[in-house]
Amino acid sequence: MKFKCPECSKLFEAEGTRIEYHSPIYGPCAKYVGYCPDCNVESDEYREPNPGKKSQNYEPVSSPGCCCSGGSCGF
Ligand SMILES: [Zn+2]
Repeated sequence: MKFKCPECSKLFEAEGTRIEYHSPIYGPCAKYVGYCPDCNVESDEYREPNPGKKSQNYEPVSSPGCCCSGGSCGF
């Protein structure tokens, strides 16, 4: 299972810890988190982008961190 650290953007392999939480929108949910070996920050599972499957309903909202105007950078 791969995780990506939000602090240092490091990708690392970890067994993962299952965390259950309650989403106000989706109700009871569970996700796996890992802890960065460098900064020990809780990290979400990293999902590799799937080029063959584009979500058509995804409408990107304007992101303050976006580096381009066309949205081609992934934000
Ligand atoms: Zn880190």
